[in-house]
Amino acid sequence: MTLRLQALALLALLTLAPVRAGAQAAAMSEQVKGSGGAAVGIWAATLTPGDILVLSLAPSSPVREAGISFAGKEITLRPDENGGPSRAFIGLDLGLESGTQSLRVVFRYRDGSSGTVLKSLRVTRRQFRLKHITLPDEFVEPPPEVLDRIAREAKMLAAIYSESGPAWLGQGRFGLPHQGPITDNFGERRILNGRKQSVHTGLDIDAEMGDPISASNAGRVVLADDLYYSGNTVILDHGLGVFTVYLHMSKLLVRAGDPVSRGAALGEAGSTGRSAGPHLHWAAKVSGSRVDPQALLGLPLDSR
Ligand SMILES: [Zn+2]
Repeated sequence: MTLRLQALALLALLTLAPVRAGAQAAAMSEQVKGSGGAAVGIWAATLTPGDILVLSLAPSSPVREAGISFAGKEITLRPDENGGPSRAFIGLDLGLESGTQSLRVVFRYRDGSSGTVLKSLRVTRRQFRLKHITLPDEFVEPPPEVLDRIAREAKMLAAIYSESGPAWLGQGRFGLPHQGPITDNFGERRILNGRKQSVHTGLDIDAEMGDPISASNAGRVVLADDLYYSGNTVILDHGLGVFTVYLHMSKLLVRAGDPVSRGAALGEAGSTGRSAGPHLHWAAKVSGSRVDPQALLGLPLDSR
C-alpha cells in the first residue's frame, strides 16, 4: 500500500513537474503513529500553496468526532452512515506562507477517551507570476447599482463553502472538466487596468463557445446560477469539504440539488461575467482553502 501510494505520489510529482517549476518539496506518503494506538496516513504530491493533503484516518476505536487542525484551519469530521471518518482533505491555501506547520489530529472516542496524532510539515515557497490585464471598466470598478448584488453573491458563496456533505461522494479520481489547452495561471497576481490588484484563484482552460463542460468527479450541485463576476457558474460539493467550481458558461444544464456523476454535462463553455473570451475557469476549494484544481488530478482516489 505504502509503495503504491509512493509511486502515485511520484507520478503526480513528475506529471506536475513541467508546470510546477517553483515547487521544491518532495512527495510524501507516511503513516504517523499517535497516542492510544491511533494513526494517520499522510499523502501529499508536494507541500506548496495550492496543494492538497490527503489523510487516511485510523482511530483505535469507534469515534464520536475527529478534529483536525493545520495552518489555522480547523476541521471537524463525524461518522457518516458508512462509519468512519476514514479520510480527510486539507487544502494549502494559495496565500499560505512557507515554513513549518503542525498537523494535529484528535480522535474523540465514543467511550470518552481520545487519541492524538501530531506531525510537523514543511511548506515550501511557490512563485506566482505577475500579469497586467485589461478588462471592461464595469468589472474593475463596478458601478454603484451592482454593488448590492456583488455583496449578496459574496455572502451566498461564503455560506455555500461553509457547508459540505459528511460523506465522500467522489467516484475514483478527478478528471479534467474539458479537454483543451491549459493556461497554468493558478495564483497569478494580477493588476487590472493598471490600478486594481487581484489574484487568479483558478485555472483557465481554452474552450470554444458551446463546448461541453463536465463534472470532474461525482458530487452534488450546490450552485447553478448567473453571478456578476463569474457569469453562469456551477459549484459541485464532493463531500468532506472538497468543492469544484466552473465559471463563465454560456448555458447551464444542471440545477442546485442535482446529484451528478463523474463526467456528467454541467453546461456549455462561454464568456459570461468577467471574462475576455470563451474559456472555462476551473477552480477548487478544499477545507476552505483556494487550491490549484490540477492538484485534484493526482490525488490517490482509486478506491472509494
Ligand atoms: Zn480564470
